[in-house]
Amino acid sequence: MPLKVAIIPVTPLQQNCTLMWCTDTMQGVAIDPGGDIDAVQDAIAELGFTLVKALLTHGHFDHVGGAMDLAERTGAPIVGPHKDDEFITTKVVEGGQKFGLGGGRDISGNMWLNDGDTVEFGNLTLDVLHTPGHTPGHIVFYNAEAQVAQVGDVLFKGSIGRTDFPRGDLDTLITSITTKLWPLGDDVAFVPGHGPTSTFGEERATNPFVGDRALKG
Ligand SMILES: [Zn+2]
Ligand SMILES: [Zn+2]
Repeated sequence: MPLKVAIIPVTPLQQNCTLMWCTDTMQGVAIDPGGDIDAVQDAIAELGFTLVKALLTHGHFDHVGGAMDLAERTGAPIVGPHKDDEFITTKVVEGGQKFGLGGGRDISGNMWLNDGDTVEFGNLTLDVLHTPGHTPGHIVFYNAEAQVAQVGDVLFKGSIGRTDFPRGDLDTLITSITTKLWPLGDDVAFVPGHGPTSTFGEERATNPFVGDRALKG
C-alpha cells in the first residue's frame, strides 16, 4: 500500500494537519495546514516527501490559516474546499480574531472542489465528497484503496462537528454523515479535524450523536 499518513496537531486548537504521501513517488499533500507551518515543513522534510498540494476540508481559520504561507514557501497550490465556504475562506483573519487567535491569512487563488471530484498525487487518488452541515462548503477526502478518510470537522471519535457557526445545520450534518460517509463501509479509518482517529464502524456502534442506536432512538 503506497499511502502513508502522519498527523501534526497545529494551532492552539490542536487541529490535525494530516500529511498523506505516496511511497512509490514520495509525492504528498498536507490536508488542513491551519498554522505552525514551520513544524509542518519540518515534518515533511523529516518524512522525506515532496509537497505537491495543500488541501482544505473547510474554511475555518484553524484548518486554513497557514495555507497561504505553506503555498508560498513550497509552490504547492491550494486545493479546496467547496465554493460554498468562500464566505469563510476570504475572512480567515476575522475568524481567528473571534477566538482571540492571530497568525492566519485569508485564502485567495485556491481551486474549489465539488462532490465527485478527485485529487491526485503520486500514484494515489483521493475522492472528494461534499459533506455540508458544519459549514456549507465542507468536503471529505477519501482514499478507496487504503480505506482512509480525512473528515475535517464533520465527525469525531465519539462526537460530531458543531453546527452553531454561521450557515451550520444539524440535520444537514447528520444527513452528510449517514448518506456520504457510512456507505463507504465500517472498515474505513478516519482522521478527524481534532482528537484521535477512529473507524466508521466504531462510530456507528458507539457514537452518541450519529451511532445507529442514537438515530433509531
Ligand atoms: Zn471547523
Ligand atoms: Zn476545527
